[in-house]
Amino acid sequence: MAKRDFYEVLGVPRSASEAEIKRAYRQLAMKYHPDRNPGDPSAEAKFKEINEAYEVLKDPQKRAAYDQFGHRAFEPGMGPGAGAGFDFASFADVFDDLFGDILGARPRRRADGARGADLRYNLTLTLEEAFTGKQAQIRVPTAVVCEACRGSGGEGGAEPGICPTCRGMGRVRTQQGFFTVERTCPTCLGSGRTIANPCRECGGSGRVQREKTLLVTIPAGVEDGTRIRLAGEGEAGLRGGAPGDLYIFVSVAPHRMFRRDGTTLYCRVPIPMVTAALGGTVEVPGIDGERIELAVPAGTQTGKQLRLKGKGMTALHGRGRGDLVVELVVETPVNLTKRQIELLREFEKAGRAAKGQHPESEGFFAKVKEFFEDLRD
Ligand SMILES: [Zn+2]
Ligand SMILES: [Zn+2]
Repeated sequence: MAKRDFYEVLGVPRSASEAEIKRAYRQLAMKYHPDRNPGDPSAEAKFKEINEAYEVLKDPQKRAAYDQFGHRAFEPGMGPGAGAGFDFASFADVFDDLFGDILGARPRRRADGARGADLRYNLTLTLEEAFTGKQAQIRVPTAVVCEACRGSGGEGGAEPGICPTCRGMGRVRTQQGFFTVERTCPTCLGSGRTIANPCRECGGSGRVQREKTLLVTIPAGVEDGTRIRLAGEGEAGLRGGAPGDLYIFVSVAPHRMFRRDGTTLYCRVPIPMVTAALGGTVEVPGIDGERIELAVPAGTQTGKQLRLKGKGMTALHGRGRGDLVVELVVETPVNLTKRQIELLREFEKAGRAAKGQHPESEGFFAKVKEFFEDLRD
């Protein structure tokens, strides 16, 4: 996009006096100031344009260069400013120059009082710990408020003063050839504040690195992936700034026996073939260490699920417990003795004439038969 003529931007003739230019700028800057047009990008663009134009036209030398060379006067390698490292002052500074008396000076980019960083702590629990809940003692390496200066950064707790170099603005101007150049203040590095006598403990930051020990209550029934926020337990702020928060990310490790889905626990329990056929009991574990006697009905097949009410995971906020679902797996015996083999052969012979003893396989082979017959048609 071609740059608009600076006189046109400010709506003044090329012969305008310095006072006229200033008046025009002041009116336009008031109108398009971002504080008065929140969330309006076109007003912000306009405001930048106005400031850029004013920055040049208010200065007799830059204005003369502009009158002679146009916008090219400020391009690298062109015009009288070539190589001078000229950059436009940020518009807030120009604004402060003009309106500082009205709005009160607003030092910017103050590092003073900056909020401390949020911290993340990863805590892994066993399923048993998630079941009971836990008081976890955690150690967090972090920045804490310096006790020696009580966070002020000044020796003995002295408050920082306004930086004498930039008078609290955080920026300084220097003359370079024709142009005024703005830089971050070298004394205070932009914070606008200096400490005559920095605290010896913290070097003036108002905080020191420590390992903080916290006792955290993890509620019973906590889910994998839960985030617990401890407000104000993050890093201490800079020189008395608000502290950040500490986030505890809870993960629950997989369990060797139980699978969890919310408050329901699942457990696969193998049972001997004979128990499955004749019925009997089997002992299953509870997450709380209870030994549960479970009745296995005669004729149990692999995959049968039995639901044990109230033997599952703790529900959050003391809402009781979920269920434990036991999935039975019939185990085929291996390493049979001679005698067992004989007995099983006899067992098979004895049942040869009987029907309905293997409902699943009988049903399956009936389907297979139908399938082949359909193919023949
Ligand atoms: Zn200190
Ligand atoms: Zn300074």
